[in-house]
Amino acid sequence: MNLNRISSVFFAGAFLLSGTALSVRAQNGYSRDTSQPVDQEYTKKIAEYTTEKFFNSPLTDYLPASPNVPTPQSVIGDVAGAPGKLPYAEDVYKYMRMLEKATPRVKVFSIGTTEEGREMIAVAVASEGLIAKLDENRARLAKLADPRTINMDDAEADRLVDQSFPIYYITGTIHSTETGAPTALMELAYRLAVDDSPYIKSIRDNMVTLITPVVEVDGRDRMVDLYKWHLAHPNENYPNLIYWGHYVAHDNNRDAMGLSLKLTRNVLNTYVGWKAQVLHDLHESVPYLYDNTVGDGPYNAWLDPILTDEWQMIGWKNVSEMTKFGMPGVFTHGTFDTWSPGYLMFIAATHNGISRLYETFGNGGADTLTRTVSADEYQRTWYKQNPPLPRTKWSQRNNNNYEETALLISLDYFNKNSKLFLKNFYLKSKRSIEKPKNEGPAAYVFPADDPRLGSQANLLRVLQGQACEIHRATAPFTVTMKKKAAPRTGGPRGGNNNAAATASPAKTPDTEQRTFPAGSYIVRMDQPYSRIADALLDYQYWSPRDPQQSVYDDTGWTFGELGNVQVVRVTDVKVLSASMERVNGDVHSPGGVSGTGSIFVVNANADNNLITLRYHLRRASFDSAEEPFEADGKKFNRGSFIIRNASTDEVNRATSELGIQAVAVATAPTIKTHPVKAARVAIMHTWLNTQDEGWWRLAFDQMGIPFDYISTQDVAKEADLNKKYDVIVFAPGGGNPNAVIQGRPMYGNPLPWKKTDLTPNLGGFASTDDMRPGLGWTGLMNLQNFVKNGGVYVGSDESADFAVSMGFTPGVSIQRATRLRAIGDVLRTRFIDSTSPIAYGYGDSLSVYCFNGPIFNISNVAGGGGGGRRGGGPGAARFTGRGSVDDPDIVQGRPPAELPEPQPSSEIWEAAPINEEQRRNLGGLIPPAQRPRVILRWGNASELLVSGLLDGGDEIAQHAAVIDSPWERGHVILFSLNPFWRGQTAGSYSLVFNTILNFDNLNASRKLDEK
Ligand SMILES: [Zn+2]
Repeated sequence: MNLNRISSVFFAGAFLLSGTALSVRAQNGYSRDTSQPVDQEYTKKIAEYTTEKFFNSPLTDYLPASPNVPTPQSVIGDVAGAPGKLPYAEDVYKYMRMLEKATPRVKVFSIGTTEEGREMIAVAVASEGLIAKLDENRARLAKLADPRTINMDDAEADRLVDQSFPIYYITGTIHSTETGAPTALMELAYRLAVDDSPYIKSIRDNMVTLITPVVEVDGRDRMVDLYKWHLAHPNENYPNLIYWGHYVAHDNNRDAMGLSLKLTRNVLNTYVGWKAQVLHDLHESVPYLYDNTVGDGPYNAWLDPILTDEWQMIGWKNVSEMTKFGMPGVFTHGTFDTWSPGYLMFIAATHNGISRLYETFGNGGADTLTRTVSADEYQRTWYKQNPPLPRTKWSQRNNNNYEETALLISLDYFNKNSKLFLKNFYLKSKRSIEKPKNEGPAAYVFPADDPRLGSQANLLRVLQGQACEIHRATAPFTVTMKKKAAPRTGGPRGGNNNAAATASPAKTPDTEQRTFPAGSYIVRMDQPYSRIADALLDYQYWSPRDPQQSVYDDTGWTFGELGNVQVVRVTDVKVLSASMERVNGDVHSPGGVSGTGSIFVVNANADNNLITLRYHLRRASFDSAEEPFEADGKKFNRGSFIIRNASTDEVNRATSELGIQAVAVATAPTIKTHPVKAARVAIMHTWLNTQDEGWWRLAFDQMGIPFDYISTQDVAKEADLNKKYDVIVFAPGGGNPNAVIQGRPMYGNPLPWKKTDLTPNLGGFASTDDMRPGLGWTGLMNLQNFVKNGGVYVGSDESADFAVSMGFTPGVSIQRATRLRAIGDVLRTRFIDSTSPIAYGYGDSLSVYCFNGPIFNISNVAGGGGGGRRGGGPGAARFTGRGSVDDPDIVQGRPPAELPEPQPSSEIWEAAPINEEQRRNLGGLIPPAQRPRVILRWGNASELLVSGLLDGGDEIAQHAAVIDSPWERGHVILFSLNPFWRGQTAGSYSLVFNTILNFDNLNASRKLDEK
């Protein structure tokens, strides 16, 4: 900080406002302090960088001067939002810490680090008096946040509300290409600390504004690099931001359920730790300011209606005040549905606070550009009476004006109604605790006899991450449950619910008793954060006839289903008086070695940490049992590990740490086995898009599976991929088959993504001199040879389509959907071949994530297509003629002809049988050992939907969902589901992990067709 410069600005720039301007401002309740000088130089720059007068407001068209507090200019070198200026996170922090040094009204807190080790901060701004009383205030807010601590005493709550001041938490630039927030928040912090306007003084004196100026820190630094590259190469095309965070891009704002990313956990812990009332996230997409929290329906069904009213109050206040300032393009109703709780700001919604989100307008950098917007954006509608301009010059300063003006209006409104909002905060918390006796349920129970205790512990840890309390039953307990409806199994063609049709008409009691064993986990709903547990564990239903036809995001997420964990919703309040104890520390599944002997047996139960164990004990030899067996009086599933050449100590340490139970035996069971080697794995990405594959990478890292991260360009250069890898995983989302081959258009200049002095944050874990080239035909050949020579290729959704389209899977084709709408939901699948190693440890069915997955058809003829509905209804096989449906027609005047055997019927997920006539000289007939093996199929139409929106489900019902398609010596594993999605689908991870573990024995237990 240059104090001399600041004081000279202070003295030279000091002037008083004219009386006229003052009265206009006073009219809106935002009058300035006439005795406070203005930083004239800074103020002049604001006007210069604002492209139209009406793109600013009286709240932000000036900057107050301070003799001792530095302005953002001291770090940025220009004013906030200046063209060409995009500070790194480090510079933003430097400024915030300069503020902290200069004034007791600012305090900076470190709130954790990112995946790549960069710091995240939260900056508190309030009067020195409030800053000094933060802890004391937090203790009061903690009581309002957990009304059990004051015995739900409303009078005591009122006293606490009177004494407390609220916390309004603002977060910026989670989306790295949305670049305006950091400078807007630097300037906002300055204003809140310095400005003596009565309304700002009141905000400062009566509430704490908490600011995380950069949420996605890794991505921000990469974005600034890229922008610098663009400035240094003004006439060239510049690379797009292919990586934001270490794992995912835009989806970093879809992690508030699964909590897989550090940024989500850091913000959640800050929000919950501070007992904040609001979490307000800043974005940029539409012109010019969309307060999208009000959005549109359907609203999330687990929220307290008090909250949705609060959204309306604050949102419409924003619109109303900015309308009075004459700022165009401010609206709050819009296309964003408020169904999914996956957004960062929703942390507040699901934790008794107020979630808020602004979409402002940005240029993806700090260039001032002429922007043309689409007709549906500039046309006037009932909720946009002063719409955006069809075409205008737009600057980052405009963006900062809008963000700051709207935030100041919100802070002012929140401050003026702070007692109401604090009381609401208490009420929402209290109503969360009262859930069991009102809407219910009373609790969710995780039974102790769940076959997958590792997955169970994993899900419970997610809930703990959400700040939920977990209890464990110390004795068995019994509750009354609604009797389960008869299972909707349906007929083989779907649709027939025979069970219901043949049910006895005699009235049976509709309730039953259910006893849970000691050790079962209980998530009580009489706790302050019951709402998030309920939202995650419950089922979702989105009607295909919902007025909202443009769905914003996923429609279903039921965590027990997607985690392959038993979760029982209990409404009987008796569950709350079961004998139980609070779990302290992370839930951990039981592990370690029991029994004696030098051979260790571990049950296959599709827990994800089994693969971790394999890589942990790299030097030990592992075998997989191809049949179920018993050892030491215990039952073991097909696929169970038999471990040799490891010490008891070693195995005990690894299994204890991972929560896996191992049984030591003196002699191995006599059973057919195959070796389980530690496969050499690569995850391949394109240079087109890496968002969705990031979730795969993240899960592999979490489970400690070593892999090489390679690009399609690397594959193009490597003729012998088998030398390096056993399994190549090509996760979805990298582009359509043609784009994967072609890459980006080769016009213009190369697009580098690598570490240089100019771009120190690019490259690292993935780099290239030019992002444009794709896999190319050589790369395709290398990849095909890899499979033919014994490699395993894993593809899902788009990358499954790639393998099918490029001829990797002679017996598989894809049928294009015409009616199917499976919009990010949870669907049921059934195992067809449980003897395949890919199915090891699973039960009969599995719920998985589906987004209009490809509809696979299977054929025994190469390129054969086929599939679809076969057989049809009664009589479908005969033509018009004499007799009944089952009779043959008879030609008049000759003896009846002998009819050939009818075509054997086949299931939707099977290949149609080939008859003798078709078989004659059929060169394309696939040899039995090379035919696709279907492991998993989609459920029948009647049972397919588990959670979310499903329309036209019969189009995909019963089709193959996971296929092991052999190709010469290798295998292509195809998924029409996405097994790794946003850290929410842990139950399907093991389909891929089993593939990796058994990569060289995928044909185990395979039954071949006779011909
Ligand atoms: Zn965004």
